Amino acid sequence: SPVNIAQFMVNTIAILEVSAHRKHINVNLSAPEELYMEADEDRLRQIFVNLLSNAISYTPEGGKVEVRISLTEQEQVRIEISDTGIGIPEKDLPRIFERFYRVDKARSRSSGGTGLGLSIVKHLVELHKGTITVQSVVGKGTTFILELPIMH
Ligand code: ATP
Ligand code: MG
Repeated sequence: SPVNIAQFMVNTIAILEVSAHRKHINVNLSAPEELYMEADEDRLRQIFVNLLSNAISYTPEGGKVEVRISLTEQEQVRIEISDTGIGIPEKDLPRIFERFYRVDKARSRSSGGTGLGLSIVKHLVELHKGTITVQSVVGKGTTFILELPIMH
């Protein structure tokens, strides 16, 4: 059934409100109000909860997370999730979507993750016939960019 993506994202961000608030991280959303897409809501939720919880986990206190949604010329929904966090070294970028891969066990131990989140995200994005890419600068932050077809 059609999902209002802006409304959906507001609700998804609300799920993570407590963990963001605890770290004084501000989560900002910009999205067209009347953009709908055909999608499985449970899968979509899992994708964004994973990406947003990573953004919050790997961003120090007082940082910022931004979600920007737009419609591309190819009629794809483009979703950018940016953070002002620790970033990912260039050499690790090709591997972060692998199962159990974590950049640095020492630095990320406190978050207690398993390294499965992004492999699940990638799988779900592919089920939706979409794409996911990442850009990152160590010490500055990370941006994940998803493009999902409106219908698939
Ligand atoms: P979990 O299975 O609980 O999600 P995880 O967060 O360690 O564990 P992934 O979500 O797959 O696993 O992420 C893999 C690794 O990529 C992380 O351990 C972290 O090193 C790095 N990473 C992911 N997202 C970010 C981000 N927004 N900023 C910095 N590093 C990140
Ligand atoms: Mg994770």
